[in-house]
Amino acid sequence: MTLLNPQAAEILAAALKERDLPGRIRLIEAEVPGRLVFTTSLGIEDQVLTHAVALAKGRTEIVTLDTGRLFPETYDVWAETESAYGIRIRAYAPEREAEERFVAEEGINGFRHSVAARQACCGFRKVEPLARALKGAAGWLTGLRAGQSANRAATPLAAYDAERDLLKLNPLADWSREDVDRFVRDNYVPYNVLHDRGFPSIGCAPCTRAVRVGEPERAGRWWWEQEEKKECGLHVGRPDANIEPGREAAV
Ligand code: SF4
Repeated sequence: MTLLNPQAAEILAAALKERDLPGRIRLIEAEVPGRLVFTTSLGIEDQVLTHAVALAKGRTEIVTLDTGRLFPETYDVWAETESAYGIRIRAYAPEREAEERFVAEEGINGFRHSVAARQACCGFRKVEPLARALKGAAGWLTGLRAGQSANRAATPLAAYDAERDLLKLNPLADWSREDVDRFVRDNYVPYNVLHDRGFPSIGCAPCTRAVRVGEPERAGRWWWEQEEKKECGLHVGRPDANIEPGREAAV
């Protein structure tokens, strides 16, 4: 059984390195004590993990953060995925009062007013629901890949998240985008059709645009902000990417 500390995370990461994806899910479920939560954004990496977790039929819970501002296509792939795998993806939604207060004060698209307003919107739509989703969890599975952006370049397979006192597990950390696409194709994994329309990374509809040829994968997220301000708080301050302050990864 793996303990919840940095040394144990390092040992687990080394063991995960030697396994394929189904083996990684099995090892995590065998080694990490307590509640295991996989948060899916329904993006293509997360669809790969959903496939592996669903087929493992283990004890990992699959949850999503329904910000209320997702693309219609994201809701479509959510329903399609539940139907394809015979699963239910539990949704965590924003607290109604916080949403009403923000919209009253800033307007429905008030996140465009300032970085602070944008972070406040991500705060009640993503960060607070994530905290509820991870309450009491010992392990948090994500679809983060090191190759997604410079901010994620050092993403490990496993790390200890001291702030949340859990193991953050990134079973696709060492996968390339080509690996992901190949897996989806070979295994008939349902995916968001927006990925075929120039959206390598998909978040909330008003904060995501298609990328141009040659742009980085995440260039279409909060594109109006400076690069160093681009974070929504989900992966802030954790050792998942050994990132310097102010350069945290975003989801
Ligand atoms: Fe709000 Fe945009 Fe953040 Fe979604 S991505 S929570 S709409 S600021």
